[in-house]
Amino acid sequence: MADKIQVAVRVRPVLFQKKDVEIHWSWSEGVVFQCEPGTPKRIGNPYLFDQVFGTETQNYQIFTKLVQPLIDSAMNGFNVTVLAYGQTASGKTYTMMGSQKELGIVQLAVDRIFSLIEQYPERAFLLRCSYIEIYNETISDLLSSNPQKLKVQELAEGHVVVHNLIETNVNTPDAVLKLMQQGNKQRKVGGTSMNERSSRSHTIFRIIVESLPRDEADRSDAAVIVSHINLVDLAGSEKASQTNATGDRFREGCAINTSLSALSLVIKQLSEGEGFVNFRDSKLTHILRASLGGNARTAIICNVTPTVLDETSSTLKFACSAK
Ligand code: ADP
Ligand code: MG
Repeated sequence: MADKIQVAVRVRPVLFQKKDVEIHWSWSEGVVFQCEPGTPKRIGNPYLFDQVFGTETQNYQIFTKLVQPLIDSAMNGFNVTVLAYGQTASGKTYTMMGSQKELGIVQLAVDRIFSLIEQYPERAFLLRCSYIEIYNETISDLLSSNPQKLKVQELAEGHVVVHNLIETNVNTPDAVLKLMQQGNKQRKVGGTSMNERSSRSHTIFRIIVESLPRDEADRSDAAVIVSHINLVDLAGSEKASQTNATGDRFREGCAINTSLSALSLVIKQLSEGEGFVNFRDSKLTHILRASLGGNARTAIICNVTPTVLDETSSTLKFACSAK
């Protein structure tokens, strides 16, 4: 695989087709550019990416081109992270979780993992899942019916654990999806409305794939391969200053910016091959430490809407800086 960090842009369709909707963006392979509304005339410099998925693209196409090679590499022991980035309502959850009409990246990844397992009959597999929410820089366990504030700790250089996090064994694709639904329900319990909360929190759905040769199953020195696959639905990237927020709301906005700006710094440092990387600056980057950089493969899907000007340019700037 060419790059450890792949950056893609997905442009979601205009939802309520009105005559007065002004499209400010145009795109073609690998490029997105701003244009004069109503004309294809380019304004400014184009933004360049590994992949650009236009409004007609379906989730399975994004999966096949961008995510499947990463899932396949997880079978060889690579840790994998897939992140959905973008402002609220740009299509992050649609991309990751799908809709009534199409499967999302999570489900497609799960199906792929189970079909790969069948291709390695000589190995015994153990799959576990966890589901974390980070809200206001507080970590909670979406698989727990009594969620406590969880602590993250670095046991050894690069080896980060979340204490008391539930990891549930799973044997079928269905079991994985049931867990995810259970976690999504738990998320609603938080008091604030689902939309409010989901636009302000990050979730990490983690699938841990562990395997060893069947004929070594009884040996303590068996060649065990462990990899983490993290499927991340990030908080909305809109700025706190733009939501006219005050008090608690404002603090949440700032905390989101802490995690997101920490993420963008980390991604930038990794892609530039810098020696020191600021993983500890936020809960999100700390938890994902072993799955970003090092022995890891990362894909960022930057979701944008074709109409909104300011937020789309800041998402594209983030995405470009990750290259
Ligand atoms: P986010 O998670 O970024 O806040 P959502 O995924 O909830 O955004 O998407 C916002 C709305 O747009 C939802 O109603 C969703 O169904 C719709 N939507 C997003 N992406 C697409 C798409 N590619 N095709 C059709 N509808 C979409
Ligand atoms: Mg969402």
